[in-house]
Amino acid sequence: MKTENGSARPLPPGATIGILGGGQLGRMLAMAGARLGLKSHVYSDEPDAPAFQVAHAYTLGRYDDEAALKKFSEACDLVTFEFENVPEDTARFLTAHVKVAPGPLALATAQDRLLEKNFVAGLGIATAPFKDVTSAVEARRAFEALGGPCVLKTRRLGYDGKGQQKVASADEAERAFTAMGGLPAILEKFVEFSFEASVVAARGHDGAFAAYDPSQNEHENHILRRSLVPSPLTTQQIAEAESIARSIAEALSYVGVLSVELFVGKNGALIVNEIAPRVHNSGHWTLEACLTSQFEQHMRAVAGWPLGDAARHSDAVMENIIGFDHDEWLNLARRPAGLHLYGKNEARAGRKMGHITRISPRTKS
Ligand code: AMP
Repeated sequence: MKTENGSARPLPPGATIGILGGGQLGRMLAMAGARLGLKSHVYSDEPDAPAFQVAHAYTLGRYDDEAALKKFSEACDLVTFEFENVPEDTARFLTAHVKVAPGPLALATAQDRLLEKNFVAGLGIATAPFKDVTSAVEARRAFEALGGPCVLKTRRLGYDGKGQQKVASADEAERAFTAMGGLPAILEKFVEFSFEASVVAARGHDGAFAAYDPSQNEHENHILRRSLVPSPLTTQQIAEAESIARSIAEALSYVGVLSVELFVGKNGALIVNEIAPRVHNSGHWTLEACLTSQFEQHMRAVAGWPLGDAARHSDAVMENIIGFDHDEWLNLARRPAGLHLYGKNEARAGRKMGHITRISPRTKS
């Protein structure tokens, strides 16, 4: 998408954006793109991918099927991702055939908790104290060095609390390492936070940056239950959260929407937990409470369009519809709120089936 003089040439309406991954995030990206006249081509290995239902075109294929990926890349003007655990080889293969945004550096950094923590700490941004752990003995030593309690997390493929365990002693740390399959891990100190927050932000090809108001996030069983805006953060903390997101986006030469999950310490300090190089569940409230949702913002950013207005015009509470909550769809539909159901064929415990956002007039500037 770069012209010869290096300036970005926007993809025009009618262009096709490839979306790797077919979950609800891909579905909402495709819907937002459609509003701007951009077509979406979704690639997923799941026959019932929710995003297939709303896309201009889709490919059902494995992430290592190079013939299918090549055909997909030829059908797209640009490819983006809706999940961060894209296999490295898939990302490399696509990058060789088509423009890809965000780029491989962001994916590689966010896929590996050790790289991610080192990267964030290297920018002078606070993280929980952590240690690299590659053996049971190291797990014990790391616990002794950090002091407890701690959380052992596998370096790769962890999300929604998967691949992590809280440990209260060196013995437990050692046992947890073995129980988690002896995979490379990090041990990090458990943060006694006062609440969790996140900041969703976008960076364009031209370096333009826009951040949404940070939300307060409440989790149940390690899964996001609700996000609230405004959060209890002060104006100064909001500015700090934005500046953290901007530093991260700039250091990654990031293009698209990203999210930074934060712990807000009892003393008010902001501590980065993790980076998600994609649209994020804690940004779903932007669909109702902002002129430009995070989904439209991502499509604008990757397509080289001007970023949209990220200002919040309303207060919002976004609640996830998880597992069998979905059975209540008719009662949910009676509420004066924005209802989103993801078209998943089967409810399962812990599965995100939809979300609902209640808005009210903005109370805090
Ligand atoms: P993660 O998979 O790293 O996003 O962790 C999922 C959730 O586990 C977080 O949103 C927190 O609620 C909790 N958690 C993870 N790491 C820590 C930590 N170091 N201290 C306290 N809580 C944590």
